[in-house]
Amino acid sequence: MKFTDLNPKREIGAHSLLVELGEFRLLVDGGMSPKDMGRAALPDYTRIRPNSIDLILVTHCHLDHIGSLPCIHRDQPSARVLITPSSKEILPVMLQNSHTVMLRQRDEHGVEDYPLFSRSEVDAVVDDLFPMHYGRAREFLKNNDRLRITFYPAGHVLGAASVLIEHRGKKYFFTGDILFRRQHTLIGAQIPSMQVDVLVMETTRGTAEHAEGFSYEGELEELFSLIGTTLRSGGSCLLPVFALGRMQEMVTLVHEARRQHLLPKSFPIYCSGLGLAIVDVFDKIYRSSRHHGVGFCAENPITIAGMRQDLKNPLAPLKEPNFHRRVLQSLKVRPLPFNRLCPGRDFREPSLFITSSGMLVENTPAYQVASCLLPHGRNLVAFTGFCDEDTPGGDLLTKQRGDTFTFASLKFSTTIGADVRRFDVSGHADREDLVNLAYQMQPSTIILSHGDLDARDWFLSALSKATPAAKIYNPEPQEIYQL
Ligand SMILES: [Zn+2]
Ligand SMILES: [Zn+2]
Repeated sequence: MKFTDLNPKREIGAHSLLVELGEFRLLVDGGMSPKDMGRAALPDYTRIRPNSIDLILVTHCHLDHIGSLPCIHRDQPSARVLITPSSKEILPVMLQNSHTVMLRQRDEHGVEDYPLFSRSEVDAVVDDLFPMHYGRAREFLKNNDRLRITFYPAGHVLGAASVLIEHRGKKYFFTGDILFRRQHTLIGAQIPSMQVDVLVMETTRGTAEHAEGFSYEGELEELFSLIGTTLRSGGSCLLPVFALGRMQEMVTLVHEARRQHLLPKSFPIYCSGLGLAIVDVFDKIYRSSRHHGVGFCAENPITIAGMRQDLKNPLAPLKEPNFHRRVLQSLKVRPLPFNRLCPGRDFREPSLFITSSGMLVENTPAYQVASCLLPHGRNLVAFTGFCDEDTPGGDLLTKQRGDTFTFASLKFSTTIGADVRRFDVSGHADREDLVNLAYQMQPSTIILSHGDLDARDWFLSALSKATPAAKIYNPEPQEIYQL
C-alpha cells in the first residue's frame, strides 16, 4: 500500500487521503478547510494526474470531508464516488450551500478564487454517486486485480461510515470521524470484531481529557440546567453547532429537556438556514424506510467503553435518524431574524439560538448572534463540539469575562459580559475509546490523521504503550509512505 495525506497541514482542515493498492488508486474523502479561504482551503491535489483515480470513498458529509469533491471530480470524471444512501441525500444540500457561501464570500472578502466549483459541477458529482449500504461488501475489478470494500456505521452523524478495504489478503480499516456512544438521533459505531493490518484513525480529541467523575449524561444535565437558569433570569443562550448532525441532535435534546421540565415551558427558539434545510433531508430519510431501512447492527461488534450501555440493553435495529420534523413543530422553531441582529444589541425576549457554525466562523449566523449576546452579563454562549483554536470560537474559549473580544469582520469589539462555557458532548470518540479500538484490532501499522499536532502527539505516546508491536505513522503532508 502507498499512502499520502493530501491535507496540506497536520490538522483537521481539508481531509483527503490518497491510497494506492496494486492496480487501484483511491481517495478517501475530498474535504475543504473551514478556516481557510480560496484555494488555500483545498487539499493538495496538484500531483494527482487527471483521470488516474478509480474510486473516491466518502466517509460522511461534513465539509472538511466533502467540500472539495466537485474540484477533484472535475479532473477525475471517471472515478466512482462511493457513499452511504443517507449521505447521498445530504451531500447535494451541503455542497450547494457551500457554493452559495463562496459566492457571498467573494463579494464580502474579495476572494477571487471563489466559487471553487459551479452548481453544475455539484450535479456532476451527484450523478456519479454509487450507494454503499452498511455491512454489504462490494468487489471491484481492474486489470485482474480485485478489491473488496465494506462500509460500517461510524456513529458521528447520519450516514457516516468507517471503511474496510480488503486487497490481496490484507485488511485496511479507516475509522473516518467516529463516535461509539449512542446519540439521541443515531446509534453509535457498529464495527465488527476483526484483526486488521493497517488502521487509519482520526485523532480529533487527542487533547480532550475528562475531569474526575465526568459523564456524558452529567454534562448534558449541567448544560440544560444552565440554559434553564439563564432563560428564567431573562437572558438568552447561544449554542453554536454544526448544521449537519449536531443541530438536529441539540434540537432533539432541547425537546426532551423541556418535556422533563428542565427548561421553561415556552420561549422562542431560533435555528439557521442550512441546519433547517438538513432537517428536511433527515425527515425524508426517516420516512423513507423502503430506501434506507433500519440501522445496521454488527453481530459481534467491537466493544468500547462508550458502547457498554448499548450492549447491556441490546437495541432493536433503530430507524435512522431517530428524528423527524415534528420535534421542530412542537418546539415552534423559527428561522433566525437576520434583520434584528445588530452587534451589541441584546434580545428583549429571552431566547435560545441553535445555529451554525459550531466554531463561530466569521459571518456565520452563530457569529452574528454571538456579537449580540456577548456584551451582556445575563446571556450564555455554550459550545458543545470541537472548536479549532484558530477560529473565533477557539479564540473566545481562551478568554475570560471582562476580556475584550473582537468580531473582526463586523468591525465590532466588546468586553465579554456573557457566560462562555464549553460542554464536552462532542460527536467524536473519546481518545481512550480509539486507543481501545486499536488495541482490539491489533494492526501492524497505525496511521494518524484528522487531528492537530498536540492531539496526534498524545496518540503517538498512548498507542506506543497500548499497541507496542504496531508501527505508528504521523504522516507529513504530501509525503508518500510505502507500507
Ligand atoms: Zn465530521
Ligand atoms: Zn471531520
